[in-house]
Amino acid sequence: MRGDVSTKRVFRVWIVILTLLMSGSHLAASANSSAKSVELTGRIVTINDPEYHTARLNWNLYFSRYPLAIVFVQNKYDVVNAINFCREKKIPFRIRSGRHSFEGWSSLDGGIIIDVSEMKQIQVDVKKKLARVQAGARQGDVAIALGQQGLAIPTGLEIPPGISGVTLGGGIGLLIREYGLACDRLKEVEVVTANGEIIRASKHKHRDLFFACQGGGGGNFGVVTEFVYSAIPVGNVVMYQIEYPYEVLETLVDTWQRWFPFQTERLNSSLSLNPKSNSGPSHVIFGIFDGSQEELLELLAPLLAIPGSDLDVFQTVSYLESFLFFANFPNPPTKVKISSTFVNKLLPPEAIHAIKLGLDTAVNEKANIYFLACGGFMRKVPRKSTPFWNRKSLFFFEWEQPWVDDQQADQSIVWVENLRLALQPFLKGSYVNVPDFNLVDWQKQYYGDNFQKLERIKAKYDPDNLFTYELQAIPPE
Ligand SMILES: Cc1cc2nc3c(=O)[nH]c(=O)nc-3n(C[C@H](O)[C@H](O)[C@H](O)COP(=O)(O)OP(=O)(O)OC[C@H]3O[C@@H](n4cnc5c(N)ncnc54)[C@H](O)[C@@H]3O)c2cc1C
Repeated sequence: MRGDVSTKRVFRVWIVILTLLMSGSHLAASANSSAKSVELTGRIVTINDPEYHTARLNWNLYFSRYPLAIVFVQNKYDVVNAINFCREKKIPFRIRSGRHSFEGWSSLDGGIIIDVSEMKQIQVDVKKKLARVQAGARQGDVAIALGQQGLAIPTGLEIPPGISGVTLGGGIGLLIREYGLACDRLKEVEVVTANGEIIRASKHKHRDLFFACQGGGGGNFGVVTEFVYSAIPVGNVVMYQIEYPYEVLETLVDTWQRWFPFQTERLNSSLSLNPKSNSGPSHVIFGIFDGSQEELLELLAPLLAIPGSDLDVFQTVSYLESFLFFANFPNPPTKVKISSTFVNKLLPPEAIHAIKLGLDTAVNEKANIYFLACGGFMRKVPRKSTPFWNRKSLFFFEWEQPWVDDQQADQSIVWVENLRLALQPFLKGSYVNVPDFNLVDWQKQYYGDNFQKLERIKAKYDPDNLFTYELQAIPPE
């Protein structure tokens, strides 16, 4: 199938083959056959373009890969052409949207990146409370487009991550306790499958593929070109931020974990722990509350009673203003190792002490440990009704060690792994959007009991395993 070729550059196959040959790729021979049958369409960047080096890199700069070409698709027919091209020529490919995959799953050496980021239209039907979002939109763009109409879907906390990867793996953030995850608000998806077919999947048609798109992880089942979400009306919230000195870490973690997961679901809360700072507070609790300032002050009382606490932000604003406030901190591309988990039972003192030891021995001052209170709406969704299975957890928990100096790379990876080993008895599962190559039983950790079902869906829609990536992609059954 071909798209509207009048307005875009069309590269004949031989140009790509030439690039393959120039790059010395082992794929060149297979790409040489049936050269006339398919064309790549869209805006194509190859190694000869000045833009190539910015186009090839993702947010996590630890992965520096050299694809043969990056196809910036402009519409679903460009996607169909790219899939047919790669399938027929047996060229490996990856799908990419916001480039925020922590483990580099949206990039590769010697293949094609199908990049949807230039398809980013968002249409909001205020009356029906529906958002029709093209796959290249960033989660922040979606929050802004909906927020301007007094609507929202749950998303993550920052502007740049792609709504695609976020939703396909789950999508957790500061609306989680009141409204669940991004994938819980999904109504329909448009997907280009391995045979180049365009399918619309929902609870009514292609239910299995729709299920897979509600947390089965990006890059496994097809290229999603459009998401339709059911949006929620949101009014004002109270946003709050409390800062703490390093020394109260253990009391803070214990008080936080015993408090927030058990309060009204209108109260959302994050806790961010950092190494000892010479220039100010180290730890911060932040969040939003759907209610009055008076009620929130009462709810925060145990946290404000911790010595050294400083209620730094406390303001009633629109949900969108709160989103933009918390999203407004610089988080540029970096090199980083991260891991994630959920906690279903309160952490005992020895686990909290292990967290403190972790921060005391961090490789550099950029280490961070982050908690997000769960419960509320998230708990009400049965764990088998979406691949995101860890519904009963008290909180989500991730720890990361970024680095600039490459000599710290190995140490940083070991630091992340050691903290997991120290806490292992207290952890349950892991979040596929904050993945970790070092997980051996990743199938169970990311998908719980849903893994076999996902394998069957994979076998139905992608029996030849075209959609894949390093180490932790879902295989056909
Ligand atoms: C700085 C930062 C902050 C984050 N904050 C949050 C947060 O608050 N909440 C949260 O839940 N997560 C968060 N994440 C994790 C985030 O959800 C994942 O990294 C997510 O996969 C990013 O999606 P992306 O489209 O930006 O990434 P990409 O690297 O483009 O893609 C990620 C995965 O999805 C696949 N994919 C992308 N587009 C498509 C598509 N259209 N169809 C099919 N597959 C596709 C890719 O092949 C890849 O496997 C954060 C990550 C970072 C780096």
